[in-house]
Amino acid sequence: MPDRLNGKVCLITGGASGIGAATARLFKDEGATVIISDVQDAAGDALADELGATYVHQDVSQEEDWKRTLGSIVSDHRGLDVLVNNAGIFRGATIEETSLEIWRQVIDVNLTGLMLGCREAIAVMKDNSGGPSGSIINISSITGFVGLASGAAYTASKGGVRLLSKSIAVHCARTYRNIRCNSVHPGTIDTPMNQAAFEASEDPAAMRDMFSNLQPIGRMIRSEEVAGAALYLASDEASAVTGTELLIDGGWLAAPNPL
Ligand code: NAD
Repeated sequence: MPDRLNGKVCLITGGASGIGAATARLFKDEGATVIISDVQDAAGDALADELGATYVHQDVSQEEDWKRTLGSIVSDHRGLDVLVNNAGIFRGATIEETSLEIWRQVIDVNLTGLMLGCREAIAVMKDNSGGPSGSIINISSITGFVGLASGAAYTASKGGVRLLSKSIAVHCARTYRNIRCNSVHPGTIDTPMNQAAFEASEDPAAMRDMFSNLQPIGRMIRSEEVAGAALYLASDEASAVTGTELLIDGGWLAAPNPL
């Protein structure tokens, strides 16, 4: 089923790397007009050039960056159909190791930045020509469901994303009918976010095995598999899907113990 996003204007935050880059690639293949935003300008520019997409520098934690980015999308494309709130950071720290600085860094990007994106995108989507319409896809994590001891702030941010998405979904359904909001929850993925931890560990191969075996399917999730979930939620096939949480976790949550 090609061209599932034909004619749709899509903004993907954190689109220079990992899941965001795979999503940009798939959305472009499916006929979307793709805008990638990130703080990694060289990588973002290079990917946009390769795909025939647009790159915008945007720090998602900054309110003025959201207003500037969406303002330029409205003036260039007259509206926005899809927002993938994908940008995120991880800081390894248990609750006992979590300084206020770590907490604020993680919450600012992963939760406050995502909230700003949802709010500002809705302000644009409600004025789309043809009436209010749009799909917001929030990339949370398996840690929106289970606690990661070594990521207290990260877990809190991803749990917040899961329920914020539902609040937004209900508000938009009642107020605008056709603006949807859903969350996506990947298991562990072999992206730069984890690769730094693998390389820093004493035994990177053992750590990769451990991360693979967290999923009952015995391997890590591929970025393209998360991009596929985002594609479904972005497309008109998901026109009645809002407020849901889509697990891309290789069966992790289905197996709370190793039996
Ligand atoms: P990644 O590090 O490859 O990509 C994250 C991107 O976000 C990077 O390009 C980075 O520059 C960008 N970014 C960071 N801070 C930003 C900011 N303030 N403003 C704009 N962009 C910013 O990691 P990834 O694994 O592709 O992560 C993408 C999303 O998936 C994140 O929200 C992450 O929490 C989530 N996730 C990742 C995993 C995993 O195992 N890698 C699992 C579940 C969920």
